[in-house]
Amino acid sequence: MKFKAIGINQLDSIEQLKDLPAEYTKVLKAVSMVLPFRANNYIVDELIDWNNIPEDPIFQLTFPQPGMLKKEYLDQILDLIDSNAPESELNKLINSIREEMNPHPAMQVEMNVPREQGKEHRGMQHKYPETVLLFPKQGQICSAYCTYCFRWAQFSGMEDLHFSASDPYELVRYLESHPLVTDVLITGGDPLTMSTRLLRQYIEPLLKKPGNLRSIRIGTKFLSFWPYRFTTDRDAEDLMSLFREVVDSGIHLALMAHFTHYRELETEAVREAILAIRKTGAEIRSQSPVVKHINDSADVWSSMWQKQVELGIIPYYMFMARNTGAKEYFSVTAAEAYEIFTDAISRVSGLGRTVRGPVMSCSPGKVLIDGIVELGSQRAFALKFLQGRNPDWVNRIFLAEYDEKADWMDQFIPFKEDEFFYEEEYEEMKQQALAN
Ligand SMILES: *Cc1c(COP(=O)(O)O)cnc(C)c1O
Repeated sequence: MKFKAIGINQLDSIEQLKDLPAEYTKVLKAVSMVLPFRANNYIVDELIDWNNIPEDPIFQLTFPQPGMLKKEYLDQILDLIDSNAPESELNKLINSIREEMNPHPAMQVEMNVPREQGKEHRGMQHKYPETVLLFPKQGQICSAYCTYCFRWAQFSGMEDLHFSASDPYELVRYLESHPLVTDVLITGGDPLTMSTRLLRQYIEPLLKKPGNLRSIRIGTKFLSFWPYRFTTDRDAEDLMSLFREVVDSGIHLALMAHFTHYRELETEAVREAILAIRKTGAEIRSQSPVVKHINDSADVWSSMWQKQVELGIIPYYMFMARNTGAKEYFSVTAAEAYEIFTDAISRVSGLGRTVRGPVMSCSPGKVLIDGIVELGSQRAFALKFLQGRNPDWVNRIFLAEYDEKADWMDQFIPFKEDEFFYEEEYEEMKQQALAN
């Protein structure tokens, strides 16, 4: 199948959208002026159930929805469009709305980009000692965008590619001088939007295992959005040989897939792709946020984990949606997420219980919502770091007051304490990073 990207200008050419009220497509266009939109022919022809619009989970996953913008913002945009306002005025409004939507969450630029001798490694993030993230410059787009994307600002032209590596040897030198690093996670965007030839330029220098490199992960949504990348695309075969070369070099290769809904695992195309990848000796793990309108039910998650296990995919993380973009539309509270997770995990066998969640990936670290506990007459959330800026924080349980509405770390209040145990140290780290 030949890849056809579908953007805002192709909306009118989608046959299936013609059945919707004109008002609806007009709103879709208005929302996609603020938040990035990109789908493709596989999503439209094979994944979306057009008899179930707008509720269909894959439609919600890929097409902008009216509820993603505050009503007042949406009305302001529609007013400007209807009155044929000059483009500059529309752009000004769009930019101010974007700024309201917390475009740069979790201090990624300020605290994760490594600096050495006054030089910034712009294409890397190094937050946890054992893992370096690499953002290759040519891999900073995706085959389609998820409506809840936490890197949406990058795809809407707000930032001039904050994270973009272009010299593979910069990473090699970094690994050589940082012996604690065992894992490289190549991410984006989606690194598999790069040709295999380009991807090879980043991966080949790593096969000599600079420093203490043991594992390479590739973060990708291609299995869900364009599985032909691994089977029939022009350089699919070359990609599979590259995977084999990594495995043969003795480096562990993990494809960090992003499956939001079990529907993405049901086509013939994705099943063939999964087989092809597994034949190379690479393993596939899967992670996704839990979000309203798409997968906020235990049924969806337990079916998804069950299917993943059957297909040889290892369930890895269930995330909380980050506090950015159309967060309010997608928000699932900590209490709801905990219930969905508990209910779903209790229905799969141990092979599916490798997954951890719900997890908030926030600036101090990855915080697991590990339980809701009764302490005398009070309730509390039991939280735990799965990853921390300081590894000493990892695996330590701490408590937050139970709050039915809380959906992110910044809303949690320490239980019977003035502050969480890590806060003073985190604040110092932050001040130091900001001073650099
Ligand atoms: C999640 C994450 C990692 C990887 O953490 P694992 O627990 O090893 O999966 C690495 N760096 C950053 C910045 C992350 O958010």
